[in-house]
Amino acid sequence: MEYRIGVDIGGTKIAAGLVNEEKEIVLKKSVPTRAGENYSLVVSDIADLIQDILDESHLQAADLSGIGIGCAGASDKESGIVLFSNNLGWRDVPLVPELKKRFDVPIHIDNDANAAALGEVLAGSAKGSRSCVMITLGTGVGGGIILDGKVYDGVNHAGGEVGHTVIVSGGEMCTCGRRGCFEAYASTTALIRMAKKAATAHPESRLYQIWQENGDLNGIGIFTAYHENDQTAKDAVAEYLFYVAEGVTNLVNIFQPEKIVIGGGICAQGDVILEPVRRQLAQDVFCKEVSLPDVVQATLGNDAGIIGAAYV
Ligand SMILES: [Zn+2]
Repeated sequence: MEYRIGVDIGGTKIAAGLVNEEKEIVLKKSVPTRAGENYSLVVSDIADLIQDILDESHLQAADLSGIGIGCAGASDKESGIVLFSNNLGWRDVPLVPELKKRFDVPIHIDNDANAAALGEVLAGSAKGSRSCVMITLGTGVGGGIILDGKVYDGVNHAGGEVGHTVIVSGGEMCTCGRRGCFEAYASTTALIRMAKKAATAHPESRLYQIWQENGDLNGIGIFTAYHENDQTAKDAVAEYLFYVAEGVTNLVNIFQPEKIVIGGGICAQGDVILEPVRRQLAQDVFCKEVSLPDVVQATLGNDAGIIGAAYV
């Protein structure tokens, strides 16, 4: 049996797993991310995590076919240096060279959203697809593009940032400093903004009541009101999904992938999210008469990032 280790470095935790050749995680461990602290501490946490997995599995580093890292931001794949990562507060961190001092095996690195997309293609909802675009709807909007079975990320490894393509010119301010990005309309942050605006206009709504009861409004509150048939919540979700579908339509027109995979906590809503997107695609995609991609829910959750990282 061939084994690899995949490491997913997130802003709050670092998760690593031993992945077998069936692309299954056979052992998984995680530690909190010491974001904002000296990078050498985080690097040593990652190395210890890998060593723990090897020890518990009675394996040596030499038994591994490789180690892969998924890290937010942009990394130079050849040198293994993390060029920048906002979540971690990193700039020019020699992550792979440092890890190579501990583990004498091939070590590769890629963006975490790209790794998640690859994970879904290898073992999840896009298994067997040659081309797929995955979007992760969370606090921001992550993107991963797989073409011919491989991650496409441009000449500088920073490509695939579909969240920062404009869908409303001059629209809402995005975290990147540009106005009207897909992320500013399709992140859960955007959904909450739209829901609060709708609730403020309709203080008689169940949505407004949930907001007041809980002291704040989040995705759970919004979908609770939605499933209680509250019209204000339904209108806010419909507005949000219109923008999600606008961005997805652009991606389909550019890439015509076999599958669009939608991930992030919100994808647990399943067809509530997917059906309106499919309907809008059927209306708006450029060559809809020829074919439309499958729009599917990501199935691996956080494991996608580990499995994909193992194979970057
Ligand atoms: Zn942006």
